[in-house]
Amino acid sequence: MQRPDTKLPGVGTTIFTIMSRLAAETGAINLGQGFPDFQPPVRLCELVGAHLAAGHNQYAPMTGLPALCEAIAGMLLRRHGISIDAASEITITTGGTEALFAAIHAVVHPGDEVVMLDPAYDSYGPAAELAGARLRRVPLRMPEFSIDYERLGAAIGPRTRLLIVNTPHNPTGAVLTVDDWKRVAELLEPTGALVLSDEVHEGLVYDGKRHSSVLSNERLRGRCFAVFSFGKTYNATGWKVGYCVATPALSAEFRKVHQFLTFSVSTPMQHAIADFMREEPEFLDGLAPFYQSRRDRFATLLRGSRLALRPVAGTYFQLADYGAVSDEPDVEFCMRLIREHGVAAIPLSPFCAEPLQGRLVRFCFAKEDATLEQAAERLGNV
Ligand code: GLN
Repeated sequence: MQRPDTKLPGVGTTIFTIMSRLAAETGAINLGQGFPDFQPPVRLCELVGAHLAAGHNQYAPMTGLPALCEAIAGMLLRRHGISIDAASEITITTGGTEALFAAIHAVVHPGDEVVMLDPAYDSYGPAAELAGARLRRVPLRMPEFSIDYERLGAAIGPRTRLLIVNTPHNPTGAVLTVDDWKRVAELLEPTGALVLSDEVHEGLVYDGKRHSSVLSNERLRGRCFAVFSFGKTYNATGWKVGYCVATPALSAEFRKVHQFLTFSVSTPMQHAIADFMREEPEFLDGLAPFYQSRRDRFATLLRGSRLALRPVAGTYFQLADYGAVSDEPDVEFCMRLIREHGVAAIPLSPFCAEPLQGRLVRFCFAKEDATLEQAAERLGNV
């Protein structure tokens, strides 16, 4: 029988799906795929119910509910000092993943080069390849996963259409600074390249630091898409509501794709989030302290284990080096961790073109105390 033609020969099922499936089958504690094991705020869920009952059940406007776009613009101004026009610069999307895909397809032509920094979140590469791009993958500098500007500069050229960056960074937890954006802007200045900045973990930056968005860099503002997600901010990854911010011209291109990809996003969810943002604007300010205490709790619980923890500046992910435990490749180690110890983690090799130094896996600490305690007890025995 002839093998089916495939547009993505290197792609199988995502590592998140594989690990979550295996965790469910074996009954393991799932610290793999990034999602909280606690609920969204009660009031937010009440609002969803109220809007369902009030009959807000038909198509939302293609670009997003105006009230939600206004609430987002207000939040970006208050929290980050960024001034955005709600109507022409914000598009509500089906989670961060749709926004990333639509942005890439809005601007990348066949043969264009797309530059990514490894480890890179798993959806960037396939989305760019489907647009006909050639990928240039530049490793981040170990051990702190900072941008290696010499290597990045060497990868950027006249064929570069898009640079994809991610801060706070999944899977490593590293964050970019105002200075990083200055250096990125300098590198891109002589080119026509655009920036796609994945900022879905913007609320999760720790130790008194603040998230630095690509949108706050004046030189990049005219040539960037910034992608955000409510899944992370309201403990509701299953609602799949996110948004993309870009200039009116870039948003117009973005919307050409979005309207045929998903058209519009769940109406009652958008109403509820808009109301909740107005009612409790300070909710977002409490996220970082909340997750910082989860991070510290998990680290304390793992003290004494043979896993060496890396610093976490942002996100709800903890990298751990298992080099003292075994020299297995990371995927094998994760498979054994699930089967023999009952804990799921995410290996890093699926996010990289070249092997990384060190033996690193990612744990999600967005979990109840009891979950973290039980997981740490099991991880203490590896
Ligand atoms: N963003 C989630 C993570 O990093 C995964 C989402 C997904 O499975 N597509 O764990």
